[in-house]
Amino acid sequence: MKVKSAVLQEMGRPTPYAKSKPIVIEELELAPPHDEEVLVKLLYAGLCHSDLSVINASRPRPTPMALGHEAVGRIQQVGKNVDNVQVGDIVSCVFVPSCGTCDSCRTGRPATCTTGSKANGAGLLLCGQSHLSRQVSKPTDPKVIHHLLGVAAFSTYSVMNKNSVVKIDPSIPPKYAAVFGCAVITGVGAVVNTAKIEFGASVAIVGLGGVGFCALLGALAAGASSIIVVDLEQSKLDLAKKLGASHAVLSTKDTSLDNLIQSIKQLTRQGRGVDYAFEMAGSGPTLKIAYGITRPGGTTVTAGLPHPETQFSISQVTITAEERTLKGSYLGSCVPTRDIPRYVQLYKEDQ
Ligand SMILES: [Zn+2]
Ligand SMILES: [Zn+2]
Repeated sequence: MKVKSAVLQEMGRPTPYAKSKPIVIEELELAPPHDEEVLVKLLYAGLCHSDLSVINASRPRPTPMALGHEAVGRIQQVGKNVDNVQVGDIVSCVFVPSCGTCDSCRTGRPATCTTGSKANGAGLLLCGQSHLSRQVSKPTDPKVIHHLLGVAAFSTYSVMNKNSVVKIDPSIPPKYAAVFGCAVITGVGAVVNTAKIEFGASVAIVGLGGVGFCALLGALAAGASSIIVVDLEQSKLDLAKKLGASHAVLSTKDTSLDNLIQSIKQLTRQGRGVDYAFEMAGSGPTLKIAYGITRPGGTTVTAGLPHPETQFSISQVTITAEERTLKGSYLGSCVPTRDIPRYVQLYKEDQ
């Protein structure tokens, strides 16, 4: 069938993108779903920082590529081995398709599925193929269009593996439902799955994008006693305070990291730092801040996605002598079929 997709032509074009136009809306041919796949009519999609990270080459992927991964859609057609969704279901898209059989999947860690990560890196579906292609005038022009993260949501329709979709409550307005598959599971999951914070824990969140805000909501729902938020934008800090953050700290590009770390620690019990600090911006300095404001015995979680060449150094002895933990969190360490309906329910309960 014919579909329209926002296709990234190549990575790393210069900014401003309004001039270099790395993305073009193209009419493409979408091949029908295989037995394990579904055809989805996309209803709403969010623009996530990870889309930008592919455009600016921080997350290198093959091009041309149909972008978009944070979305909600309606099932239009199912392959004959699909049993988790039916035609007409409203689904949240999941950006790591899990195979269900690799070591990660079998041990309850589908976010790190070996087969899914490999397919995502290659810009293909789990079946090892692309379903998108374009008409070309010259035989040397690329004909195959890759799928971003098995979803390719900036399209009118897309084909996805059955494990790239989770059925959700259709009563949620689709424009809000769209963010559950990325910002919500990543942010809330970092708090409740990766860190598993205790009731009454003290928390800091460094970086208030969609994921950082969802971490704030997760920390509130999980019963954090105090929550410090850190960002470069006052308006985001104001909103975080309204939502329930205890302290808001404005950082500026010129603030010395050491001074910032010391001033944040002053807001914590005995100035020792927080029990859990979450790095949600994906940069070296933000992880340095998050690690610096974590107390001895505490846990620092990073869910941001920096450029692969970004290095992070810490005083090694702090890990030993302060019994520190540093954890990574991808897709909120979630099990999408368990967690997305749970978070949708929390949303419906006004949390
Ligand atoms: Zn995302
Ligand atoms: Zn797997």
